[in-house]
Amino acid sequence: MSAILTLNAGSSSIKFSVYASGAAPEELAIGQVESLGSDDAQLSLRWQGEKTAAGIGKTDHAGGVAAILAALEPVLDGRTVAGVGHRIVHGGTLFDAPVALDSEILSALHRLIPLAPLHQPHNLAAVRAAIAAFPDAVQVGCFDTAFHRSHPWVDDTFALPREYFDKGIRRYGFHGLSYEYISGELDRVDPTDHHRKTVVAHLGNGASMCAIQGGKSVASTMGFTALDGLPMGTRCGQLDPGVLLYMMAQEGMDHTRIRELLYTRSGLLGLSGISNDMRVLEASDRREAKQAIDYFVFRIRRELGGLAAAIGGLDTLVFCGGIGENSARVRAQVCADMDWIGIALDPEANRTSADVISTGRVKVRVIRTDEELVIARAVNMRL
Ligand code: ADP
Repeated sequence: MSAILTLNAGSSSIKFSVYASGAAPEELAIGQVESLGSDDAQLSLRWQGEKTAAGIGKTDHAGGVAAILAALEPVLDGRTVAGVGHRIVHGGTLFDAPVALDSEILSALHRLIPLAPLHQPHNLAAVRAAIAAFPDAVQVGCFDTAFHRSHPWVDDTFALPREYFDKGIRRYGFHGLSYEYISGELDRVDPTDHHRKTVVAHLGNGASMCAIQGGKSVASTMGFTALDGLPMGTRCGQLDPGVLLYMMAQEGMDHTRIRELLYTRSGLLGLSGISNDMRVLEASDRREAKQAIDYFVFRIRRELGGLAAAIGGLDTLVFCGGIGENSARVRAQVCADMDWIGIALDPEANRTSADVISTGRVKVRVIRTDEELVIARAVNMRL
């Protein structure tokens, strides 16, 4: 009996899951290591319906992977880990599908670090740690950018001199593993939907939207980095680049301060001054909380119109991600007065986050996304 491990390494966390391999991967346990680099890193695990958490002291990514392996011993129960799947944020223009990682491919992924300096190094650190821990297992890279390689040129480029496009300054798009999962689910629940015009709103702490036609990504709101498009928990979303010129020239801000501003102090947190967490904002009666939600919704509605125009109409709208799956309020605000495009919500179905929450021509669905399963499937295919 063999098992599949998936790793999703961020700057201070590693999410993981374990599956039994077989005809289709079957989830055994999921968990995460948080607060890596601080004095009180934590490991939490959900297994057999129980959730446990324990401190693992101060450690780095390699130590985090070691702690995960120790915690998984009873879960594996003698199974060997035959494959490890890695969420890797950037596959550049090189990869439009998962790939078995060898030293040549890892070198190519290292060269992409400048395109995703906050994420790619951690993803690759997890690959190194997993190779050391499981030298005989197949290591598979799954890219957030891959699903979007089908973008037509007009959605891939910025209107900069062409040499920058050739240097890789393009609209890559992210959250591709989530969109791939949703696209597969739409095929499963409604096989006749396949060639229809779909917009997916992945609304989590990170948020983006994607227009899908015939199962392929045509346009997305995230661009060169995961900063563009919708406002997020702490990221700004769409911004006039002139603002950055002003920040540099008038506010004397350098690269480090601007990066910190755009990635960690903006979005819902910056607008509300209260929290990046939608649950906290929804519970607040302060004007700033309401305004932050209103801005979030306004940008989603604008992008919905733009993405529908990019695919020439709309048949299906899907909400996913922590906010999309759970916030009846955000979904209701997004869909209000949208009859012009064929959206009408069923308030009761929306309140209970039912699978289908619409009564109008456009089918509005709530689907729980599962990026880990997309990774596990890619590994399972290679065993
Ligand atoms: P990440 O992008 O880190 O994976 P998630 O997809 O888990 O994030 O989404 C986190 C967001 O989902 C947070 O803003 C959180 O407040 C929001 N969220 C989770 N549950 C609810 C809920 N019941 N109502 C409103 N927002 C929710």
